[in-house]
Amino acid sequence: MHESSVALALIEVAGDVLREHGAARATALTVRIGAWSSVVPAALAAAFPAAAEGTPLAGARLTVVAVPGVGECPQHGPVTLEVARGLSCPLCGAPTPRLLEGDELELDELELA
Ligand SMILES: [Zn+2]
Repeated sequence: MHESSVALALIEVAGDVLREHGAARATALTVRIGAWSSVVPAALAAAFPAAAEGTPLAGARLTVVAVPGVGECPQHGPVTLEVARGLSCPLCGAPTPRLLEGDELELDELELA
């Protein structure tokens, strides 16, 4: 259910962009989803078509770009985090509480019809 509401929110954002450009429909959209955003890309892709029905995004092709988490280790600088290990450096295990990247959930591209 969470992914359905995410899909609806994305459709709303896309609808604003369409209105700004005076476009009636979009044929494709690209969404960036961080590994720490709590959104499962496959679940979002599954929820999207039904959520888009009856909107200007009906039938639009959804591309999900998965963004890996990047944290900052005091010793190693920016490191790519593994979700299974949580917020800690994969090299030395130091906590990396601050995410530099990987919590995004954003509309990246919209292809207007
Ligand atoms: Zn480290």
